Amino acid sequence: MMVNVDVVTRSPPFLRYMLTRRKSDAYARDALTSFMHPQKLNGLGTHRQVHEAHQKIGTYRSVAVMELNRYHLILVSVALIAALGVVIWLKMPFLPEQLIESPADALDERIVKTPPGSSPESRRDLLLDFDDFVSKNFPMTLVIQGTVVNLIELRTRRAIEEIHSASVQEGSMRVWYIYNMGVVIKTTNAIVGIDVAGTYVAPSIADVGGLLDVLIVTHPHGDHLDAKVTAAAEKAGAKIVVADERVRVDSSGNIVRDPGGVSMVQALAGSALAAQALVGVELGGTIEVKGVRITAYPAEHSYPNRPDDDFSATPTGWFYIEASGFGILHTGDGFFSDAKPDLSSKRVDLYLIHYVDEICAEDYYELAPQSHVMVPLHLHELGHGREILDYAMFSNALGQERDGDLWLSHMTPQDTGIRYVPLVWGESVEMSISP
Ligand SMILES: [Zn+2]
Ligand SMILES: [Zn+2]
Repeated sequence: MMVNVDVVTRSPPFLRYMLTRRKSDAYARDALTSFMHPQKLNGLGTHRQVHEAHQKIGTYRSVAVMELNRYHLILVSVALIAALGVVIWLKMPFLPEQLIESPADALDERIVKTPPGSSPESRRDLLLDFDDFVSKNFPMTLVIQGTVVNLIELRTRRAIEEIHSASVQEGSMRVWYIYNMGVVIKTTNAIVGIDVAGTYVAPSIADVGGLLDVLIVTHPHGDHLDAKVTAAAEKAGAKIVVADERVRVDSSGNIVRDPGGVSMVQALAGSALAAQALVGVELGGTIEVKGVRITAYPAEHSYPNRPDDDFSATPTGWFYIEASGFGILHTGDGFFSDAKPDLSSKRVDLYLIHYVDEICAEDYYELAPQSHVMVPLHLHELGHGREILDYAMFSNALGQERDGDLWLSHMTPQDTGIRYVPLVWGESVEMSISP
């Protein structure tokens, strides 16, 4: 007996636990025998022996229970620490936000590390992961401030800071992509915004308006014309340029083409939309505002094979902008009309196109083959619903390359001399005047 206990107490903890358990089991067996078969025990001695057996069991059992608790406690603690590690690693949603890095922060960090000049492979991986992020986190309603909105806010604030502080050298310009078809171009002379909109998704986009000298609005749709942006632009002393077509407001409150109607400037001024800042340019005409030359070309807001869609009467134009020696072409929601603009004599350094499934980037390219950088826009717009969002993805826009003429690269001219440069919200590219 004593020897046995010695073996137990001198053994390593785990073995000790096992030995103790075996001994208590043995005593338990003896005790059970006493109860079940008292005739095997001697007369009066029976009760005493059973009692002793119980005491022994009790003693050994309590040792076993104590040992069991201690080691279970250690095991449970280790399991809890491991589970906490897994939870942090997986970023489970039930953890308080401050304990984990948000998915928007993590993606933002990666976007910063993989700018447009990165290798085509790493850039393509980033863009496809960006698609996944937007698709997976697409908010059910825009009222819900979701993860995607957090990323737009983050990216917009970063762009605002950069637009404000960036210095642009003579002979170069920098262009930031904000959201949907909104871009900001900074030259040595002026800061020009085109179709900056989207405060219905990310309120801080309004602050972009406050940085501008000129805001060009291609057409009066909410994802291109944003009252909060125009208000901020007007307050900052900017001019707001629109194509001055004849229009009327239809029964649904939409502005539509009408040769017998009023001018666009009148129609917009009537809705008190930054009335003092509005400047009209006739389709086919050119004006100069704050040293920036702006030409508007007529276009159709309907798909080539669906001429009678809901928006076929929407006034819209392509805009060609000349600033500090650069030529910039922005298509807005204008798809191809029968009267395609003659751009052969224009320099097009930057070609901002509306990505659509049915129009290949090369259709745009054929119109201005002299262009240098083409950026596909109208991607990842959250207000158009799930169906449109599903195709307005980088994965589709990247599929527009045909015969290798358009290439996902930047600063690596291909045979065509054009670079196809998809941009993520808030990203920018710097361009130099090429001869
Ligand atoms: Zn539109
Ligand atoms: Zn649009």
